[in-house]
Amino acid sequence: MADSETQREAVLDALDNVAERLAEEKEYLTDLDSAIGDADHGANMERGFGKAADKREEFAEMEPNEVVKNVGTTLISNVGGASGPLYGGSIMFASQEFEEGITVETSVAFAEAYLDKVKDRGGAQVGAKTMVDALVPAVHTYKKSIEQDDLPPLEALAKAVDAAERGVAFTVPIKAMKGRASFLDWRSVGHQDPGATSTLFILEELLATAEEYLDGEVDRDARAEDAVGRDE
Ligand code: ADP
Ligand code: MG
Repeated sequence: MADSETQREAVLDALDNVAERLAEEKEYLTDLDSAIGDADHGANMERGFGKAADKREEFAEMEPNEVVKNVGTTLISNVGGASGPLYGGSIMFASQEFEEGITVETSVAFAEAYLDKVKDRGGAQVGAKTMVDALVPAVHTYKKSIEQDDLPPLEALAKAVDAAERGVAFTVPIKAMKGRASFLDWRSVGHQDPGATSTLFILEELLATAEEYLDGEVDRDARAEDAVGRDE
């Protein structure tokens, strides 16, 4: 296991990468949310993770699990709506799994605890057109790749990101059953879910950060340029 200082640096770098990516994607996420929501998902994600990343100095003395926990509380206090408590509360809850440090094993436990909390709080199952549609395949793929297929963590994470990407595509043809988009009933069909999409972006940045720290590279076909559903 890397020492606790390296783990904290990795968490802080992941946070920076996520905040930067969500700022870049603000308009795109807002466009997705304006089709089936209230056009605030881009701003919510940028503000929440931006505020967390701004606390880098405050985080400099904390243990890695405490940094993760604080990212969660920062999201809760700065992001309203559905996504603030879902992202923030679940990150906060899952941070317990890192109490003994960040290892491959505890990363699986973190992912599972995070997913459980999102499902528990939001009450959405797969197929309700929410972030759960990206998360479930990602977390299951990650766990299976590590525990059953014995893949190295980077490959497992890359597979999880691919699974999340398919999950995001799956949200397009289905009808929303939870959250604001469900008010639209069948008119939500044909639109990609914003929260599933931001989940994918976060996972992509976790993978990019893991590549730096684990000193590897996975071939993912320059995917960031042609993320799902984007028609540029
Ligand atoms: P709000 O819907 O309050 O405006 P956001 O726009 O920030 O909040 O987030 C919307 C996203 O939150 C949706 O795209 C969906 O992925 C996610 N979401 C909404 N309700 C739920 C729920 N009950 N369970 C899981 N995810 C949900
Ligand atoms: Mg919204």
